[in-house]
Amino acid sequence: MRIVFIGPPGSGKGTQAQRLVELYGLAHLSTGDMLRAAREAKTEIGLKADRYMSAGDLVPDDIIVTIITERIGQPDCRNGYLLDGFPRTIAQAQALDEMLADKGTPLDAAVELKVPEEELFQRLAGRGRADDSPEVIRQRLEAYRKQTKPLLDYYNQQNLFVSIDGLGTVDEVFERAKAILDKLL
Ligand code: ADP
Repeated sequence: MRIVFIGPPGSGKGTQAQRLVELYGLAHLSTGDMLRAAREAKTEIGLKADRYMSAGDLVPDDIIVTIITERIGQPDCRNGYLLDGFPRTIAQAQALDEMLADKGTPLDAAVELKVPEEELFQRLAGRGRADDSPEVIRQRLEAYRKQTKPLLDYYNQQNLFVSIDGLGTVDEVFERAKAILDKLL
């Protein structure tokens, strides 16, 4: 099973992704985690990405596509994976489509975790991470609205799109996600 998991910052996407990959035995491909690891290791990519991440902006597509191409080629991805935080732009989605067409391994679904923006701001402001100043939060939400939301239409046109209500407890949302993914198996 190959899945794209889309959701705004603060939607609980990372938490749900973690639980879903464990349940279905998928590789967990989080570009946010990969970038944070690169930043901590002070690699060239990490240092370059840091400037964008700290400002709440998206990291340039070419960097992300390079990272993901390398990762998807690794052996643990052969049994399926969940893409968490990628693609985040139409250009990234197109690059992914080309990559997967070359390999003959199309996506099974693009799942949106849907949470209203007012709720997101509340959640993020209460979380208190270093990259969560009000200004950076606003910038990340705007990047989602402008650059990532168009993907919902993009995947809808490919008949891959499914939306999950992200309001409620972690367990409630997990049950909804499970019901949808079970149908894909
Ligand atoms: P969030 O906490 O917003 O869910 P992530 O942990 O997925 O975010 O990513 C943190 C930051 O890493 C993003 O704000 C962005 O700067 C960068 N990033 C992660 N994935 C991508 C991507 N696919 N394209 C561009 N930038 C990305």
